[in-house]
Amino acid sequence: MSAPVAVSHAPAAPPRSTGGPDPQWVAELHDDITATGGDTRTVLAPATGEPLHELPLSTPGDVADAFARARLAQVAWARAGFAHRRRVLLRAHDLIVARREQLIDLVQLETGKTRGQAFEEVYQSAASARYNALAARGVLRSRRVHSGAPTVIEARVRHRPRGVAGVITPWNFPLSLAGMDVFSALAAGCGVVQKADEQAALNILELRRAAIDAGLPGDLWAVVTGDGATIGEAVTDHADVIAFTGSTATGRRIARKAAERLVPASLELGGKNPMIVLDDVDPGKAARQAAYACYASMGQLCVSPERIYVTRGVADAFTRAFVRVIGSMTIDPAPGSAGDVGTLTGQAQLDRVRAHLDDATAKGATVLAGGAHRPDIGPYAFEPTLLADVSPDMHCFAEETFGAIVSLYVVDDEEEAVLAANASDYGLNAVVLSGSVARARRVAAALETGSVNINEGYRGSFGSIAAPMGGSKQSGLGRRNGPDGLKRYVESVTVASATGLIQAPTSAREWRMLEQPMLLLLRAQRVLRRR
Ligand code: NAD
Repeated sequence: MSAPVAVSHAPAAPPRSTGGPDPQWVAELHDDITATGGDTRTVLAPATGEPLHELPLSTPGDVADAFARARLAQVAWARAGFAHRRRVLLRAHDLIVARREQLIDLVQLETGKTRGQAFEEVYQSAASARYNALAARGVLRSRRVHSGAPTVIEARVRHRPRGVAGVITPWNFPLSLAGMDVFSALAAGCGVVQKADEQAALNILELRRAAIDAGLPGDLWAVVTGDGATIGEAVTDHADVIAFTGSTATGRRIARKAAERLVPASLELGGKNPMIVLDDVDPGKAARQAAYACYASMGQLCVSPERIYVTRGVADAFTRAFVRVIGSMTIDPAPGSAGDVGTLTGQAQLDRVRAHLDDATAKGATVLAGGAHRPDIGPYAFEPTLLADVSPDMHCFAEETFGAIVSLYVVDDEEEAVLAANASDYGLNAVVLSGSVARARRVAAALETGSVNINEGYRGSFGSIAAPMGGSKQSGLGRRNGPDGLKRYVESVTVASATGLIQAPTSAREWRMLEQPMLLLLRAQRVLRRR
């Protein structure tokens, strides 16, 4: 494939009417991949199981080439300054909004989500472009700080872009995650080589097109594709900073590599997210919130709840309402359809969900709702499933299922709910449903997760691009979004200069003369609470 070039991209007709993407549009997107070897992989559409396109695959040499070109482009991009980068990213925001129909179509085609759940991603990627465009200067501009010896030394801190970031993303939220990790890197003055998951590469390429058409140099954001074990590893071998999103197992490998090379890595990993339902909820309303939180994107979302702890006072009413809501959910993965939920994304997901369900039921779990594969709807369609009587010997008790299955536990009170919620190796997101936000905030303060959503499943924190997102414990290291998301792409540099007004001591005699005034200065700064 040829090298990425900055071409003006005329939005293709939405593919819904034809049931698949326009082949010419797909071919143009393929041309933007840094891939020269000629190998391809067939990507299947989750809704039908039919081939969607033949994805060109990169070689390790392509990855090296992409980094070399991104390095050159990054030098000019860093020099261009905040105002230029802001203009380009704001234009990218506008193009994402203008091209939302194509993007929604692609999310549906590649992931099997519903239209609404695909729109979540478009909204989030546009919001990431806007936030990072507008926030970067305030967070990263060079500033004066108090020096250790006022009038003798003046100190400034500036932030140097780290170079070219290796961004590695999974298939489940391609636009949101690329938006969060790539736009922050670009706003900070870095270049990006992104390793797209094969199942979601078209989404990323179309998002990149919006940025290129907005004025981003083509070489600055390269997209490579292929196996994690070869192409993913090649990305981590070259990157000046790594932003990885994926499973905890892969995150550990990347952490080891980053440690060997002494490059920083932010790791956004898996979860086994708890939801606590307190006894002061309206059961019907809580059930509707729980259903969206658990089964949107068919539960294939790192921040979806997979464990529900309902307090005894409301357990019967909530469970009845929840089972009713689940039973009423429509499953329809066809692009353009109006189903409540779509489909699992592929065979590997279906196999994992079935394995967890079979293991749980064989060991005594009760299926309260769902529980069936629905090949009549789609090859990977699965009913939203609620289990009770789940015990620690079952895989779905503590392991991330990442799709369709949620376990319900009745607890005596909120203290027991918090203990159970925290008894996990993971610590990504938690949900508290309560009639009192003040009470829910008290509970939230005791939870060991990177985010807590009150009376919302995940969109509250996941959509708050100005706030940090990340996990505790085995759910990750570092934070994306907000100022933290920008700072991970820069190195802080302190530049201290002698003012020349008073010379710092250089001899024993000068030290003797200045010791008392310096002690006085220390005490004065303490009294003035000067940091
Ligand atoms: P995965 O770890 O198998 O793959 C993620 C990406 O890493 C893919 O692009 C893959 O090709 C690549 N990869 C695989 N091995 C690699 C290696 N050795 N070196 C470099 N790259 C490699 O994860 P997955 O199954 O695709 O995604 C689902 C997981 O991602 C779940 O655990 C989910 O919770 C997690 N996730 C986390 C977040 C978050 O923000 N915390 C968001 C979405 C998904």
